[in-house]
Amino acid sequence: MLRIAFPNKGRLSEDALDLFRRAGLPAQFRAERALMAGLGEDFQALFVRAQDVPEFVADGAADLGITGSDLVWESGRDVRELLDLGFGKCRLVVAVKDEAPAASASDLPAGTRIATSFPRIAQEFFREAGVPITVVPVSGACEITPHIGVADGIVDLVSTGSTLRVNGLRELATIVHSSARLIGNVERLGEPESAAKVGELVTALESVLRAQKKRYLMANVPRARLDEVREVIPGISGPTIVEVLDGGTWVAAHAVVDADQVYQTINRLKALGAEGILVTGIERLMP
Ligand code: AMP
Repeated sequence: MLRIAFPNKGRLSEDALDLFRRAGLPAQFRAERALMAGLGEDFQALFVRAQDVPEFVADGAADLGITGSDLVWESGRDVRELLDLGFGKCRLVVAVKDEAPAASASDLPAGTRIATSFPRIAQEFFREAGVPITVVPVSGACEITPHIGVADGIVDLVSTGSTLRVNGLRELATIVHSSARLIGNVERLGEPESAAKVGELVTALESVLRAQKKRYLMANVPRARLDEVREVIPGISGPTIVEVLDGGTWVAAHAVVDADQVYQTINRLKALGAEGILVTGIERLMP
């Protein structure tokens, strides 16, 4: 059994469990509020604070873990990044009060007080920018600190930017982009049996992540326009062509298409005379 540390609450937790469910590994809880759950035959889920995931994976308390890459980098622990899961996207930014004179992070004077729950990343960023700062450690809600005289600026996560705006703060720099990652214990991944199970898991998760950006499109098209149809829906290795028993005028063309191109693709197929167009979701895609 390999143990996977999951975040115990919030959007990150929900999205991670949903991804595993779609990969065929639904979490089986014995009771409400249980902090462990079964996850197929090979894995067991543990629910811990997102901040603690890198620690538990590095120490071997968990073999794998899911958490934001910002928290992995902040931990400074040696873990293997296995897969970018694509959700939990945000940026770690430097921000100051709207009326502050600085136009960039390197304009900030030496001794600037930065409130953050990312002291390691903040120190490293300002060291590279050549600005000696004082970190004011906070565990959350750092947006208020410049307004109450506790700090001159902040280093915090931003998703839409609306929290900064409503709190009268202005971004000076993006330090890093972050998203949820699957991470692994370095030693455990060196064991062949574990590495094989992790490899199968990564393949399954990747196939779900790949599929969610794709759709399966089916259309009846005039046989005479097949060359043009192939240009519109090249698919992975050319569209699949299926006979339609109408005496030879029509064939059905099937292909995987990009989800964000479905609208344009349908219009182009209709212009070629396509009929009976169907678009469906794909659960997994392993090319
Ligand atoms: P927003 O107003 O959308 O920019 O969100 C900013 C607030 O949400 C800040 O308080 C952040 O600390 C928090 N936040 C945004 N994205 C994330 C994330 N991916 N993980 C953890 N906290 C986040």
